[in-house]
Amino acid sequence: MIVTERIEPVAVDVIVTGAWVLTLNARREIYRHGAVAVADGVVVAVGHRADILAGHRAATLIDEPDAIVLPGMTNGHRHLLCCAKGAMPEGGGTLAALRAFIYPSFAALTEDDMHVYARYAAAEMLRYGTTLFEEPGCNHLEAVLEALADTGIRARTGPWTWDQAGSAGRDGLPDWLRLDADAALDRLAEGVATVRKFGNPRLRDAVTIEGVGTCSDALTRGAADLALDLDSLFVLHKSTSEAEVEMELRTFGERPVAHMHSIGALHDRVLLNHMTSLDDRDVAIVRDTGARISQNPTSALKLAKGTTRTGKWKELADAGVPMALGTDAENVSNHQDICRAMQLAALLPRDMHRDPNAVTAEQALEMATLGGATALRMQDEVGSLEPGKQADIVVFDTDDYDLGPLHNPVANLVYGSTGHSVDTVLVGGDVLVRHKRSTRLDESALRARVAEINHRVLREIGIDPSPRWPVL
Ligand SMILES: [Zn+2]
Repeated sequence: MIVTERIEPVAVDVIVTGAWVLTLNARREIYRHGAVAVADGVVVAVGHRADILAGHRAATLIDEPDAIVLPGMTNGHRHLLCCAKGAMPEGGGTLAALRAFIYPSFAALTEDDMHVYARYAAAEMLRYGTTLFEEPGCNHLEAVLEALADTGIRARTGPWTWDQAGSAGRDGLPDWLRLDADAALDRLAEGVATVRKFGNPRLRDAVTIEGVGTCSDALTRGAADLALDLDSLFVLHKSTSEAEVEMELRTFGERPVAHMHSIGALHDRVLLNHMTSLDDRDVAIVRDTGARISQNPTSALKLAKGTTRTGKWKELADAGVPMALGTDAENVSNHQDICRAMQLAALLPRDMHRDPNAVTAEQALEMATLGGATALRMQDEVGSLEPGKQADIVVFDTDDYDLGPLHNPVANLVYGSTGHSVDTVLVGGDVLVRHKRSTRLDESALRARVAEINHRVLREIGIDPSPRWPVL
């Protein structure tokens, strides 16, 4: 006689189900009619829906049998110091925008403003499926940490810093912070200490300098050393235009990436933002040093950085360089949608190389998820749906034009989706967005507060955001 022992289902906190569960595990397995079980904020099982439901009893069941389920996405470059979306004067390049609009806007932001901006940015990113972001240097760090902690998002950040002694000299640089290299390094170390003292496990430190001609070699090397000593992440803008490359060639006789390497400031705890002007040697240096990259395609296109001429996205991807996708400050990109960045990351290199295989849909989806987590050195905790990892989960609604009719979830996501398809978002097992609404924040009130701040700042810096067409 065979006695079948009845096995009691295991109690868990949450189960999320979907028609397609993309795990991004080492074999990139996709479960058709799959599910993810979560306990204490951590993924405890991934498998077929029927098996997971039979083996577990969930306090909360998010049962979406038609949905695509994806690991939380990463935004590899999102400033919280930012300016009014849509108000940036049209037609100017990077330097003109920085001088007339961006830096004056930053200087006008109070601690309260930063608190509101941080909540608003997190609300928008979460709404569109971003669960982790890199903030490349903010001001009023403590207010930012408090705001982000309320929202439940994950982030890496520090205080934005420079010493006005780089290849650009003192011309046109933001003057609301005047520090020498030693004081700048103290500010960076204090920033790491502040984030660690704050003690929220979702908020991690970074050593954040500006980097485009604004920092001395002593500061750049010191910041790189600091990130190694403190086991942090060194974040800076680098090789963002041909003008920057020419400036560094004039000053140092080397291109920006080669110069960082020469002074011993490149290693595997460095995240280089933008990187739109590279040559093959730069790619080899990045690969050999283990440095990481964030690509910001909308920002690059809007500011006419030449990303399809002097970018090396295919070469960097082929070299296995960990690459995140970012949106940059919202005044530049006008959106915080990693789905849109993913589409551009797949398509721009194809046109550049006249090769439809230059960057595959799978590579673009990896950049948005596991690649982004790896670029931020968080890949052991997030970036895939596997037992032991944090339960950062995005559920896409497929019952709309973005994703339906659905045949191949990878192709449909990369080419067709926008953040508006995101229905539900969990971070560490907490349901932060459900049916396209924040569960924690009054999003309408937040938008109204941001509009008030923007109007005040635009008045203070003398920018009129009116359209160029006659307004009657
Ligand atoms: Zn930036």
